[in-house]
Amino acid sequence: MKTLKVNIVTPDGPVYEADIEMASVRAESGELGILPGHIPTVAPLQIGAVRLKKDAELKLVAVTGGFLEVRPDTVNILAQAAETAENIDVERAEAAKKRAEERLNKASEEIDLVRAELALKRAINRLDVVGK
Ligand code: ATP
Repeated sequence: MKTLKVNIVTPDGPVYEADIEMASVRAESGELGILPGHIPTVAPLQIGAVRLKKDAELKLVAVTGGFLEVRPDTVNILAQAAETAENIDVERAEAAKKRAEERLNKASEEIDLVRAELALKRAINRLDVVGK
């Protein structure tokens, strides 16, 4: 079976590397499915889960935006932060979600509102990836 080499990298270093059968990412323009032989593409990503099919199993990685580069046999994702499900600290994400919700309720300036909304999205994404 044809495979794709996927690399997920952050400023702190590589987070995930594997040969996979299919990838699905949340690009700014919408959900994008990638199979081996995909046409070369570059796309900005939303805060979301990267879904990777490997050996008939689904692997989820939480990414906080960044960029996707697709070549026929590789998928490179450069993200500000990324965690595989087993590396997500659930308590930390729950605390971040609560903090962001409290800030959203109190936010008086646009900038605070935008920051709190992004923090909330990051926390919800991490909790989604661990199935909470
Ligand atoms: P927090 O307020 O808890 O720091 P955050 O959304 O502001 O959350 P980020 O700025 O996205 O955090 O990430 C900072 C670093 O912390 C990154 O390396 C990221 O992978 C890591 N990180 C953030 N939240 C978690 C979590 N719940 N579990 C594991 N790693 C996390």
